[in-house]
Amino acid sequence: MDDIKAANKKIAELALGCGANHATILSADQVVLDDVFRDICKTNACGNYGNCYMCPPDVGDIHDMMDIMRTYRLGALYQTIHALEDSFDYEGMVEAASRHVKVSQDLEDKLRNMKPGPYLHLSVGGCNVCEVCTKRDNLPCRFPDRAMASLEVYGVDVYQTAQNAGLKYINGQNTVTYFGLVMIKEA
Ligand code: SF4
Repeated sequence: MDDIKAANKKIAELALGCGANHATILSADQVVLDDVFRDICKTNACGNYGNCYMCPPDVGDIHDMMDIMRTYRLGALYQTIHALEDSFDYEGMVEAASRHVKVSQDLEDKLRNMKPGPYLHLSVGGCNVCEVCTKRDNLPCRFPDRAMASLEVYGVDVYQTAQNAGLKYINGQNTVTYFGLVMIKEA
């Protein structure tokens, strides 16, 4: 257990080094799962439902994905916090999501060097690696080894999970907070 804990501490440190504002380790039983997030995706408020390979329905059945999540033992949860002009600043939120994805992709590079065994790395919704997902034109994914699903796609209740891990879900007025999660099985 000590080795896997140390590996997760290292991942949390790497996340901070990549620009995350906060990061902490958490055990699998602190990750709260709920299939209700698939119903929320189906409302397509973000416009990505059926339009991104890393979003439903293409990404896979939520119960299968929750089962995959349950195979991991320990993880590192990280967050980035971004200032907005006001709470209706949609452009600011989109830009903030891109900045968060940059942190996640930098961390992904470091994880590949670290090689912590099989791991699952999740970030903010809609993948966001490409400006427009090729799914919209029914062309193959441009970067299958870079594409990243969201925590919600795997059924993670980010609010409850962040609370369990001691991270704030909301970090002040006129800010938006995005999360990333790396789960590992062994050190
Ligand atoms: S990497 Fe690009 S093409 Fe592939 S799922 Fe992500 S946004 Fe879509």
